[in-house]
Amino acid sequence: MALMITDECINCDVCEPECPNDAISMGESFYQIDPHRCTECVGHFDEPQCVQICPVACIPVNPAHVETRPMLMAKYERLTGDAAQPQPSVQR
Ligand code: SF4
Ligand code: SF4
Repeated sequence: MALMITDECINCDVCEPECPNDAISMGESFYQIDPHRCTECVGHFDEPQCVQICPVACIPVNPAHVETRPMLMAKYERLTGDAAQPQPSVQR
């Protein structure tokens, strides 16, 4: 699953630079995660880096984006591959 940031976020700014997929950005009133870019850090790290560093534990899984580990790995490969190539399906 992709992760999401709840309204408990205190906008401390520490998670954004830690994301290897540039999935975190400032939203209207607090930070947000782009579910199409979040791989739960699969492919980069053993643990989600934003969860590790967040001081208020406001980053749960996003129930609207249920994904298996192979799907997250496929997303990682798509994100790190040549953007000019056709995008492969993540449904394997
Ligand atoms: S889990 Fe990893 S990829 Fe997803 S938002 Fe957090 S740091 Fe970025
Ligand atoms: S680390 Fe947590 S509290 Fe800080 S900006 Fe990110 S989500 Fe918000």
